[in-house]
Amino acid sequence: MTTLRTSAQFSEHGLVPPEQQPVLDGVAARYALALPEALAALIDRADPHDPIARQFVPDQTELVHRPEELNDPIGDNAHSPVEGIVHRYPDRVLLKLTAICAVYCRFCFRREMIGPDKANALSSKALARALDYIRSHPEIWEVILTGGDPLVLSARRLRSVMNALAKIDHVKVVRIHTRVPVADPARITPELVRAMQIKGKPTYVAVHVNHPRELSGRARAACARMADSGIPLLAQTVLLANVNDTPEVMAELMRALVECRIKPYYLHHGDLAPGTSHLRTKIAAGQQLMRDLRGRSSGLCQPTYVLDIPGGHGKSPIGPNYIEHSSSNAHFKVEDFNGQRHQYPPPLSNVESPEDRGRPPLPRA
Ligand code: SF4
Repeated sequence: MTTLRTSAQFSEHGLVPPEQQPVLDGVAARYALALPEALAALIDRADPHDPIARQFVPDQTELVHRPEELNDPIGDNAHSPVEGIVHRYPDRVLLKLTAICAVYCRFCFRREMIGPDKANALSSKALARALDYIRSHPEIWEVILTGGDPLVLSARRLRSVMNALAKIDHVKVVRIHTRVPVADPARITPELVRAMQIKGKPTYVAVHVNHPRELSGRARAACARMADSGIPLLAQTVLLANVNDTPEVMAELMRALVECRIKPYYLHHGDLAPGTSHLRTKIAAGQQLMRDLRGRSSGLCQPTYVLDIPGGHGKSPIGPNYIEHSSSNAHFKVEDFNGQRHQYPPPLSNVESPEDRGRPPLPRA
């Protein structure tokens, strides 16, 4: 088995019942399918709620489109001055090199724009125009390679893009967003790792991981190859119903990431992508999950819970609030990790004087 790409192949490998195949052909006609062997091997076929299957095996509910869902849920198109570039925030741009991914996530926020039947790799002319755009905007400090998945490109092609970015003085940081280390870890070869790096500028890699079981031995080894070569690793995770929306699973995932030298960066609230309502949670549930995570896990294990505001207005942190003004506005109330509230600054009667601590008082002026 290599990569499953049709509903018939999903059925042959015991991932969907044969009687569902006709309706799943309809799903496949609308949204790309691909499940590489490394991920398919992690699925427990005896578990009808397997969290890996839920993310990657097509489901007939994907054909249920809700009125609030949007073809371009995070508003990329509103901020695309030239093909391949999304310039939403002043100091950084997305550079979308390809519409291909190693695996097609059933909740993908760009599902209407990616897949083998969509405009594929940027043509060399379009790439030249995108690089010209970056060159002519000195405020661009960071370039984020995304897609599609930039790590499906050959090492040669990735190196040529990285070398072009290296020559743009005002670009100081390159970030690569990818699912390849978990979807197809064998692709993270020493040659590809070298191609990700450029002299004098850091490359950060943000690995997309949603469940601790995705961090298989092979995925961990792929991440280690990048970390060992000096690439700082971040994680981005999508909050998904019945995949990672319990405190136990989320804490296990965050700890596993940190153990792999991957710093949890963003926990994304599920975007309003078409046909994904069965995988979205309520924001209140995400906030409670973040409270639980803070109460039980190290600070290293805390991502920022964010929402991409529909319409292209960017990300906002939407995690729980731990601080508020008192009713008199004279001080704050701050909540600790046990849910207890405290006044800040503390009431004077609660503050120990130096004499209370047995130390001599400071001389008064
Ligand atoms: S890897 Fe990213 S871009 Fe590709 S299908 Fe998954 S979420 Fe979408």
